[in-house]
Amino acid sequence: AKALGRNRYCHFAPAMLEAVGERLQMGNDLRAAITAGQLQVHYQPVVELASGRIVGAEALVRWHHASRGWVSPARFIPVAEELGLINAIGERVFREAAGTALTLHRCAGLEAFQISVNVSPRQFVTPDALEGWLEHMRAIGLPGRCIAIEITEGLLLDERPEVARRLLEFRNADVEILLDDFGTGYSSMAYLKRFDIDSLKIDQSFVADMAGNGSDRAIVEAMIAMSRKLGLYVVAEGIETEAQRKVLCEAGCDFGQGYLFSAPVPRQRLLDMMRRPANG
Ligand code: C2E
Ligand code: CA
Ligand code: CA
Ligand code: CA
Repeated sequence: AKALGRNRYCHFAPAMLEAVGERLQMGNDLRAAITAGQLQVHYQPVVELASGRIVGAEALVRWHHASRGWVSPARFIPVAEELGLINAIGERVFREAAGTALTLHRCAGLEAFQISVNVSPRQFVTPDALEGWLEHMRAIGLPGRCIAIEITEGLLLDERPEVARRLLEFRNADVEILLDDFGTGYSSMAYLKRFDIDSLKIDQSFVADMAGNGSDRAIVEAMIAMSRKLGLYVVAEGIETEAQRKVLCEAGCDFGQGYLFSAPVPRQRLLDMMRRPANG
């Protein structure tokens, strides 16, 4: 490396070393936070667009760091994936979500409430990572339909047999499979057929640009029309305005989530929302 000369180093060093150090530090902090049980789970309600009724929620991991404050999962999940910490995080989120789903399942009139959990591709190919999930659900008496898993398009490109096998195990146990961030990846219709997906989640980037941009609106409408023809449910994410809700609803989108309805909230807040008579 020395042979590259001094000038090369000048271009490379400061920013990149800082980034590497930053990631190492974050990895160490994250490891400590997992051990200390400092990760929390928040829940973002999912509503039926036509009625406004809350039918489920997405579990989203939260990390409050003593000096950094709230760290976005968009930043620490990739680090966790890289360092092999994602299985521990995923397990924690799942356990917590399953407990919340069970509490809601036992509330009168909420038998159909469903909590979805994000699952990284890594978790599908790590031996034992998802092994205990269905067993745990059976052990606590939680029906499969009360949980859904959110996977991303990249996973469907993975041809390792354990991926297809695990997806089939979930499906056979009545656990719904949602394809997250639809439209941002490979979006091949062939995968939808091959893997027997239940629902698509239209990525929030399309929803955000829908109002001002004719072609984004056309794309969203086409995605919804196609999904309906394939017998898939559609969930739109990142709905922030009534105008967006209306367009989506008219296009036939079944469900949605976003700040218009509610930000992600702590478990107790979700339970309070669901116990309100209006949602009974
Ligand atoms: P995602 O799965 O696409 O989750 C949706 C993100 O949009 C969440 O960000 C949510 O808080 C945010 N959001 C909700 N409503 C609105 C809205 O109306 N407008 C806007 N602009 N944003 C909205 P969050 O919680 O920061 O999570 C970021 C990403 O981190 C998630 O994206 C997901 O990919 C990943 N993630 C979060 N929790 C987990 C987890 O437990 N496991 C795994 N593997 N990934 C997770
Ligand atoms: Ca998601
Ligand atoms: Ca998403
Ligand atoms: Ca997203």
